[in-house]
Amino acid sequence: MSFFNSIGRSMTRSQRGPKRSPTPTSATYSPNGDMPPPSPVPPSPRTPPTIPKALYLSHPFVDAALVKGNFKTIVMLPKYVDIMEWVAMNIYDFYTNLNEFYGVISECCTQQACPTMSAGPTLSYTWMNQERKQMHLPAPTYIDYVMAWIQTLLDDEKVFPTKSGHDFPQNFPATVKHIYRQLLRVFAHIYHAHFHQILHLRSEPHFNSLFAHFLSFGREYELLEIKDVKGQSSSPVGVGQLWEAWREMGILEG
Ligand SMILES: [Zn+2]
Repeated sequence: MSFFNSIGRSMTRSQRGPKRSPTPTSATYSPNGDMPPPSPVPPSPRTPPTIPKALYLSHPFVDAALVKGNFKTIVMLPKYVDIMEWVAMNIYDFYTNLNEFYGVISECCTQQACPTMSAGPTLSYTWMNQERKQMHLPAPTYIDYVMAWIQTLLDDEKVFPTKSGHDFPQNFPATVKHIYRQLLRVFAHIYHAHFHQILHLRSEPHFNSLFAHFLSFGREYELLEIKDVKGQSSSPVGVGQLWEAWREMGILEG
């Protein structure tokens, strides 16, 4: 069943576990409406840039994983579980795990080291402020805003209901798609700018598995657009190549 067609069904809800608060810093801006497409920095060159192969695309790191195999089976909706509940629970887990990874490497993600929210040699994401103006923010600021914004949504009973008898709102699919897109950007920045630190911690099997699970889940429930994973030809997202590599290896499906 399509996640986007399933809203509005009546459902019996049970309470999820207690929420955790990874205490992101306060957000001054919130992403209103749709986020803008990635902005190339500098402006698109005529010839594609020569990009050295990223470490995360090299062996043995590219297929380092906690568990070998295809992720399809673990993203499938379990029997008797409501699809909204399943998506909510997984979003919560992706957010929590990614936030913990970021917490570990955050001392390296500083305003000086990461003055923009980079995700590829020619790609830096921009943030839309409350006046709907595109802003280049240092990566740690951008990521703090994203994580604080998501935490606020997760804590909002009207957006992510946890109590029995409370239904998910009509716009829940759109909200989680928006969350997904921002989480993807955080993954993309960590791969692009901090993969050597992940390697230093010997966490690449764990991080790859988390990201492959995230991609697989996002495709299964239509939360992830291919164009957001790959970016534009003049400003590709670094992890777009990882997505391709994992598809060729059979770790991910189309
Ligand atoms: Zn950084």
